[in-house]
Amino acid sequence: MPLYDKALHIVQRLREAGHEAYLAGGCVRDRLLGRPPKDYDVATGATPRDVQAIFPDTVPVGSRFGSVVVVLEGDPFEVTTFRSDGPYSDGRRPVHVRYGTLEEDVRRRDFTINAMMYDPVDDRVIDLVNGREDLDRGLVRAIGDADERFAEDRLRMVRAVRLACGLGFAIDGPTLGAIRNHAAAVTEVAWERIGAEITRTLTEGGARRGFELLDETGLLEVILPEVAAMKGCEQTPDYHPEGDVFVHTLLLLQHLENPAETLAYGCLLHDVAKPPCRQPAGERVTFYGHPELGAEMATEILRRLKRSRAVTERVAWLVRCHLHYTQAPKMRLSTLKRFLAEDGIHELLELCRIDALSSNGDLGYYEFCQRKLAELGETEVRPEPLLRGRDLIRLGYAPGPSFSAMLGAVEEAQLEGALGTRDQAVAWVREHYPLDRNGGNDEP
Ligand code: ATP
Ligand code: MG
Repeated sequence: MPLYDKALHIVQRLREAGHEAYLAGGCVRDRLLGRPPKDYDVATGATPRDVQAIFPDTVPVGSRFGSVVVVLEGDPFEVTTFRSDGPYSDGRRPVHVRYGTLEEDVRRRDFTINAMMYDPVDDRVIDLVNGREDLDRGLVRAIGDADERFAEDRLRMVRAVRLACGLGFAIDGPTLGAIRNHAAAVTEVAWERIGAEITRTLTEGGARRGFELLDETGLLEVILPEVAAMKGCEQTPDYHPEGDVFVHTLLLLQHLENPAETLAYGCLLHDVAKPPCRQPAGERVTFYGHPELGAEMATEILRRLKRSRAVTERVAWLVRCHLHYTQAPKMRLSTLKRFLAEDGIHELLELCRIDALSSNGDLGYYEFCQRKLAELGETEVRPEPLLRGRDLIRLGYAPGPSFSAMLGAVEEAQLEGALGTRDQAVAWVREHYPLDRNGGNDEP
């Protein structure tokens, strides 16, 4: 059954049991825009207890806040009781919620375009806050008094930016002004939630516009001061005719199309250490050490944004290695193969391509690496080892720390093309690491 039909079924079952029920929020917005909704949320007059009694498969995800997930043939639907949110003590979560009416439920939502309900039985949109008009005009507008709404929940400021860039909308004037007023307080929100919205800003389209908005509203300075510091960090014009490090970084973001989170953060942070590493040198400026320091800064930033360890490690690696490819034509064959055999090489080369396109447009090094990857192929870049530790033992060497050096040297010779077979490798080891009379290993 298509997702929409399942959502319709949930609404119908709630109605049959005597409750009001509608599709609500983002899915209504997306359907009116002609975009497939990611998920369908249902708003209802039924309490969580009622919902659990009607549907056999439910998960009480946030029953304190009136939310129950109904699972229908494996798909989750969030069914939320009409409510009005109580006071927010800390800019994070309402202290308590009170079940309420449809109208109250509309008014507790963040933006007009997110506050429409849809009655799928009678095919009718319920729009109490002129969301339809804002949708047509392409505007993100807070419901009610924007200052009050952002004081209640600071995360809404970042959501406004994320929605605007993802939909290609503008933020309505008073709403934008209120974000400027409250930007400094955004850190009252749990970093986990901020990190999730920043990630979506980067990956769901319009990332460049999103970061321009974060900058214009003052949110960037508070959430990512290291990125804000790129502004005004001038570079040598022959390498970077486009402008300062921030302008360059925005250009990278503009090239992102449905990126993985790691590529997106890699692009955002690849030059994050240029401001602290900047050294004027006559007519030019240098940024020695910025990939290494950048990797450390990226790690710190992604920990702050509560990104996963795997994401953090990959991005740090991308940042640390983002200039290696310019050395590729000068690398020894074995070094080049090891570089091309790295786990994230395709993502790294994509970052390099976008980086080059966002500065002087020279794709020479990038194309060299792609050509070598294609020429050499997987098996030559990452061949089966000719020898392993147990082979050395069989040859009479005593196991120990020298093994990894010996095996590394064999691999090096193999990657250089000097060794092609096991027998050659055995002869080579015997010649280069003669066994002494006691059967130990001579230091080479
Ligand atoms: P998408 O799922 O595409 O990101 P969405 O609008 O469904 O968009 P959710 O985060 O799933 O976004 O939230 C569902 C609905 O809950 C929103 O449409 C909005 O009405 C409401 N909502 C979400 N977060 C807040 C908030 N911080 N303050 C007020 N209402 C909110
Ligand atoms: Mg949603």
